[in-house]
Amino acid sequence: MMENTYEGYKAHLQKIAHLNSTMALLSWDQETNMPKKGAAIRAQQLSTLSTMVHELFTDLRFENLVNHLLAKSCFGFKEMRNLQLTKESIEENKKLNSDFIKRAAIARSEAFQSWEQARREERFSVFIPSLQKIVDLEKEKAELLGYNDHPYDALLNLYEKDSTVHQLKQVFTQVKNHIVPFIQEISANEQVDDSFLYQYYNKDAQFDFSLELLNFMGYDFDAGRQDLSTHPFTINFSAHDVRLTTRVNEYNLSEVIWSTIHEGGHGLYEQGLPINHYGLPSGEYVSLGIHESQSRIWENNIGRALPWWKFLYPKLQKVFPEQLGDVSLDQFYKAINKVQPSLIRTSADELTYHVHVMIRFEIECSLMEGVIEVTDLEEVWNEKYQDYLGVTPDKPTEGILQDIHWSHGSLGYFPTYSVGSFYAAQLYAQAEKDIPNLDEKLAQGKTNDFLTLMRKKIHQYGKLYPADQLVERFSGESLNIKYFMDYVHEKYLKIYGF
Ligand SMILES: [Zn+2]
Repeated sequence: MMENTYEGYKAHLQKIAHLNSTMALLSWDQETNMPKKGAAIRAQQLSTLSTMVHELFTDLRFENLVNHLLAKSCFGFKEMRNLQLTKESIEENKKLNSDFIKRAAIARSEAFQSWEQARREERFSVFIPSLQKIVDLEKEKAELLGYNDHPYDALLNLYEKDSTVHQLKQVFTQVKNHIVPFIQEISANEQVDDSFLYQYYNKDAQFDFSLELLNFMGYDFDAGRQDLSTHPFTINFSAHDVRLTTRVNEYNLSEVIWSTIHEGGHGLYEQGLPINHYGLPSGEYVSLGIHESQSRIWENNIGRALPWWKFLYPKLQKVFPEQLGDVSLDQFYKAINKVQPSLIRTSADELTYHVHVMIRFEIECSLMEGVIEVTDLEEVWNEKYQDYLGVTPDKPTEGILQDIHWSHGSLGYFPTYSVGSFYAAQLYAQAEKDIPNLDEKLAQGKTNDFLTLMRKKIHQYGKLYPADQLVERFSGESLNIKYFMDYVHEKYLKIYGF
């Protein structure tokens, strides 16, 4: 029975959250531990659960309850905001019927398996049939959800509310006009030496160091854990159980360090959401752009800057004395900030990274417009990489098959990565004003003031304020890419000495 009160509303949302958490646990297991033969039934399990979630969420009695409560005027700001956000989600969910949800879940599970097979065989053609299904479903989804200008807007909105092709085209025009030539300018200078990062580094020692990194960030291991997976990710079952994964490459020390710090940043955000709002919008992350700002700010603004490494580097040297004993902090700092056009997005430096995202944005936009076909994707991909970055993949795992996102049916997701970095630069500029001697504190390993500021200004609010408003309340203005441009110019002019 559904009680006709705000408590009844809360209980119903928590019931949905229990199912969502269970699905998250099954997905986490699918990507970390599940044996191969488990895949087929696992797909059905996830499909059943997502149908149940959809049914609970679109239950007419629940909708009536939300409307009934909204009509009352006895609630405070938080309660009203939760009710309004739930109403918006109900409206959105109603647009996607159960049949669509079911087909989409099955297509996703199949696509994930065939993406993995295509990667094993280094053949994009293996992935084409299921990717075609995904793209068709995404187009159908856009039509079901509705949009004003561009079908891609409907998908973008699922990850970053109110973002549009129009707005993102402006952002990526800046990337094209300013970052692409800046990368070329850097390439004309003497390159830094990072060869020592590609020596042999023992796998277990790397993983142990990554756990230490998370400790130094303030990640709570009583409310989470870290495992290994092909594609690192963060997933939560509640603010008190936030799982991270990372990846270790014995011949590339960078992968584990920045994957861990990145996912750690995501994890800290999830752990910082108010646990007593579990299941409610006010207990959930606000948008993927903000989520990504929390990972990027740790990964780049703190994790690729000198101050924190003054503290960390001697510890890393102690773990790998043979490999790093003779490498100075300055050499290390330059190496971890080497700018070089490359093929893999997740291991790209923080400048070329946005060109990778821009390429995916352009491709998804064209796919949604029907200007290009799935069968042409590998060729289109390779051409764009050659045009913008001057590199061409030798094999599909270094090109079109590198990302998991399309197999998950997540078109519209990629742009949030760049938006997140641009938010991060803006938030960090403000943090430097708000925290006295931040650099000195980081140099002593003291990250607590920074984490506390993020908790106070971002994490604790959940969805109470829209993303752009949250940033505006913190930094005095909404998204402004200027902070990122200033930050990278200052940083790289120094590193490359021009
Ligand atoms: Zn991320």
